[in-house]
Amino acid sequence: MKKLMAANWKMYKTAEEARTTAEELVRLVGDVPADREVLVIPPFTALSAVAGAFSHGGAFYLGAQNFYPAEEGAFTGEISPRMLKDACCTYALAGHSERRHVLGEDDAFVGSKVEFGLAQGLRMILCVGEKIEERRAGQVESVLRRQLEKGLAGVARDISTEDIVIAYEPVWAIGTGEVAGPEEIVHAHAFVRKILVEIFGARGNEIRIQYGGSVKPANCAEILALDNVDGVLVGGASLQADSFSRIVKA
Ligand code: PEP
Repeated sequence: MKKLMAANWKMYKTAEEARTTAEELVRLVGDVPADREVLVIPPFTALSAVAGAFSHGGAFYLGAQNFYPAEEGAFTGEISPRMLKDACCTYALAGHSERRHVLGEDDAFVGSKVEFGLAQGLRMILCVGEKIEERRAGQVESVLRRQLEKGLAGVARDISTEDIVIAYEPVWAIGTGEVAGPEEIVHAHAFVRKILVEIFGARGNEIRIQYGGSVKPANCAEILALDNVDGVLVGGASLQADSFSRIVKA
């Protein structure tokens, strides 16, 4: 299974800034290692610019940070999976902590996006993870179980396993510089794997589980070597081509 090395650019970069960074990334990475895929998830307004930089082909993929789960309609300010596919997106995120906790998206809405995105032909990355007060209260497993069961509720049990990715992102580690420790990551990923096998049977072993939360060039190799870590989802350290290229090759 190829490790998925993903850059989430959040609400950063104009189209021109994104194009420059993406071109530099392609140059610095060169040939993507055979066991890896590179995914860049820019703001919507920069999708076209990054698609242009990736147009040579290779293992560089484009993704979307969000969409609304409907084909089209009166949803002012929203964007549909069909529009994202038209803009060359292969992947999309659902359930990122900033959308859950800043924009108030609940488990049911996240689940409806996962189901709809898959039905429309996008590969879906479902983000899950506990808040610090939930960790302190011993609720890591119950939070992960709820987010996974509700997030995957509408997914067919015979789904192609490369179309679903889980990103374990402890909320307290996102954008804080505080990376989860190896034991915390191994425990959470093993628990996610257990739930995936409960839901999908043995095929749950083929679904990739990324870690996200203050990944940097200096800690990436160690994290990728842990059990059940099948890639990383990177925010801050993905904004510079130099730093993200070192993560891709870590
Ligand atoms: C993220 O945005 O998903 C993320 C993990 O951010 P950061 O790497 O900055 O913690």
